[in-house]
Amino acid sequence: MLVDVHAHLTYEKFDEDVDEVINKFKGIIITNGTFVEDNRKVLKLSKKYSNVKPALGIYPGHIIEMSDDELKKELKFIEENKPIAIGEVGLDGTYENMDKQIIWFKEFIKLSNKLEIPIIVHTRKAEAKVIDVLEEMKAKKVVLHCFSGNMKLVVRAEKLGYNFSVPVIITYLEHFKELVKKVSITKLLTETDAPFLSNIKGERNEPKNVAITIKEIAKLKNMVEIEVENSILMNYKRLF
Ligand SMILES: [Zn+2]
Repeated sequence: MLVDVHAHLTYEKFDEDVDEVINKFKGIIITNGTFVEDNRKVLKLSKKYSNVKPALGIYPGHIIEMSDDELKKELKFIEENKPIAIGEVGLDGTYENMDKQIIWFKEFIKLSNKLEIPIIVHTRKAEAKVIDVLEEMKAKKVVLHCFSGNMKLVVRAEKLGYNFSVPVIITYLEHFKELVKKVSITKLLTETDAPFLSNIKGERNEPKNVAITIKEIAKLKNMVEIEVENSILMNYKRLF
C-alpha cells in the first residue's frame, strides 16, 4: 500500500475531481492544512474518506498575517480536533518576521509533543534554524517535508531521530537522490505536496505519483520496489 504523507487535496486545483483522485489512489493520504479555513476543509474531507487523514497547521506565510489572538484560537481548535499530525508548519526565510515564525513554530512543536503526534515541517532558507528549534524544543516525532538542507544537516537530523518525506521531484534533483542514499530506509517516507512539485513541469501533482518515488528509492537503495513500499508503510504505521 502506498503512502503520501504530505498533500494538499483541499486546494483549488482539486476542486473539480478530488473524489476521483482519492478513489483511484488505493493508498493513504495525509492532507495538510495551511490556514484557518483550509484546516476546516481538511477535517471535512478526512471525515468523508477513511484513507484521507488530517494534518492541521498554519503555514509560515500565513503565521505572519495572523494576530496572536487568532493564532491562539487556532491552536486550540487544532488540539480539540485531534488530527493525525500537526502540519504544515515550519520556518520560511523568504517571508518576513522570522521572530514571530519561530515563536509560533515552538508552540506547534509543544502541541505535537503534548498530543504525541508527528509534526510535518516545512523549511525554506531556514534549514539550520529549523533543526536548532526542533532540537531545543525536544520535538519527538518529526517529519521533514521536502528537506533541502545540506548533507551535514541531514545527518544531524537523522541522528536526532527525525524522518524525511521524499518528494516526486527526486527524479531530477540530485539532492534528494543523495539524501535517500545517506538516510536509513527506516527514516524515509513518501510525499507529493500535490498539487505542487510534480516531476513534470506544469503538470498537477497527485498522490498516485508516490509510486515514482518508490521506484527511485528502490534503484538507489538496491531494493525491490515492493520491499521499499512495505518499508515506507511500516515507517508510516510506526510513526503515525
Ligand atoms: Zn505543502
